[in-house]
Amino acid sequence: MTQTIIDCHVHINAYESLKNLTLAERIKALSDTMQANNVNQAIIISSYKINEERPSTSDILASVKNHDNIHVVAGFSINNHDDKSIEEYREYLKNGKIKGLKIYPGYEHYYPYDPKYQKVIDLCIEYDVPLMIHTGDTYTPQGKVRFAHPINVDDVAVDNPDLKIIICHLGNPWFLDCQEVIYKNKNVYADISGLVLGEFTEFYEKYLVGKIADFLNYAGEPEYLLYGTDWPISSMKSYLNFASKLDLDDQERDLIMYKNAQRLFKL
Ligand SMILES: [Zn+2]
Repeated sequence: MTQTIIDCHVHINAYESLKNLTLAERIKALSDTMQANNVNQAIIISSYKINEERPSTSDILASVKNHDNIHVVAGFSINNHDDKSIEEYREYLKNGKIKGLKIYPGYEHYYPYDPKYQKVIDLCIEYDVPLMIHTGDTYTPQGKVRFAHPINVDDVAVDNPDLKIIICHLGNPWFLDCQEVIYKNKNVYADISGLVLGEFTEFYEKYLVGKIADFLNYAGEPEYLLYGTDWPISSMKSYLNFASKLDLDDQERDLIMYKNAQRLFKL
């Protein structure tokens, strides 16, 4: 039997590899890449800002209408969104159009526990959808990583016990801190996306396989770990190859590759 795969973290911004393509063409590139890699479902996350390269959540929703296997999580930022966005997202949540929300603290220089994010947190709790939080290294040097450190997520988790949180990118490179926040808080999960630009080298792949083994040793059974890539920043093919090297039994593999995402995002 082939493995079911849900990639819970992809983007559709016009990054290098998708430059000069229309949104529809980029969606097609995603769909084709999923098919080529036997990826059953994917979740597109909209950006913290909207511009030529970065489509709005409503534009993304309109262009995935005919793709049952492509879902959407809406990005929210304090600087580029407002209460109107919150009301828009509330409608999408009511109608099941979006599966969660995401914030990008390191990119906009607020801690994830900043009271300005509380309305996003409350919305997630109200509709019982996960809040994804970018953690770790930022794709741009303008990011400030102290805001993106995974240890900050602990405050959010403790103060909002009914909120389900997904730490994106395992806090890379602060794996140990991410591990503790997950071990300690039953409402915190993590995705393994975005750990590489492009393809893994053999050396780096081995290093990360070891890091994830440490994770499982410390935090136990992986009900909290989700497969994701950060495509097109990371290669889907290389990521699947990396995932195949993780030391997991069939049950654990199913949890990480799709069951945890299915449960959390209600797919
Ligand atoms: Zn991402």
